[in-house]
Amino acid sequence: VFDVSKPWLNRVLERREKAYLTAVSEVDFEIAERSTYALVGESGSGKSTIGRMLVGLLNPSSGDVEIEGVNLAKETDAAKVDAVRSDIQMIFQDPYASLNPRWRVRDIIEEPVVARGGKAKGLAEKLLEQVGLHPSDAGKYPHEFSGGQRQRICIARALASNPRLIVCDEPTSALDVSVQAQVLNLMSDLKDELGLTYLLITHDLTVVRHMADRIGVLYLGRLVEEAAPADLFEDPKHPYTQMLLEAAPRMDGFGRDVPPPQGEIPDPINPPSGCAFHPRCPLAVDRCRQERPQLRSLGGTRVACHLAE
Ligand code: SF4
Ligand code: MG
Repeated sequence: VFDVSKPWLNRVLERREKAYLTAVSEVDFEIAERSTYALVGESGSGKSTIGRMLVGLLNPSSGDVEIEGVNLAKETDAAKVDAVRSDIQMIFQDPYASLNPRWRVRDIIEEPVVARGGKAKGLAEKLLEQVGLHPSDAGKYPHEFSGGQRQRICIARALASNPRLIVCDEPTSALDVSVQAQVLNLMSDLKDELGLTYLLITHDLTVVRHMADRIGVLYLGRLVEEAAPADLFEDPKHPYTQMLLEAAPRMDGFGRDVPPPQGEIPDPINPPSGCAFHPRCPLAVDRCRQERPQLRSLGGTRVACHLAE
């Protein structure tokens, strides 16, 4: 699956090379109803690719995308695919780019419903109130709002079609720090009020700690660890998770000057052999270079590392 937002891919395209890569492979996770599942990883880990495949913005060049037993990549019964898709909406990182500047807020919010032939009268006003804006904002245009307000509009649009699952791709990373907490709090409140389920895609472990019920850590398109936040933060099993946590700002307000994770994420077009993390792993042994570790259960954690115990 190609994701043209990645600098390394641009380099390849500039060289006019033909490149194939596996952006995501064998990623398998369950999101409990009414919970928040966080996918965490660096740029190039495949986290956005997964999100976009779930909402149908990307299709895998090969392989399957299976949700609730329906294979979205291969299912030919359009009604079956539509039934799954209509339950899933997405919120993007950049609220500026994802709102049509020439449309009034009302039309933006109601479009997903109108497009499916549904009735939308008064819907925008109701949803605007629900996301902490004013019903009269329905008549305005996106440029009349701040970044945080625009992300609220995006949330209102996502809610319009009554989704069960909302995929949130870095929903606050384009916003001012002071606004981020407000948007996250709104998302939490809406989840409780409406019984929503979130897939939260982020590189920011501090966001995840407070929001997630379950965290999946991605490295080069594969899950390397999955755990509840308490387990992940207190007893990370995978050396990559340990590295991420050491680099994360501390929660007590006293920042630490910690160097970023050792080494660059490798070029996914030529992933390392065996455990893809071995060139950066301080614990790597010969076996790691030859044999890919499978995800296995260790208590309540799933981890893909030969040495984890
Ligand atoms: Fe490190 Fe080996 Fe574990 Fe990979 S399998 S994370 S290289 S110890
Ligand atoms: Mg991304």
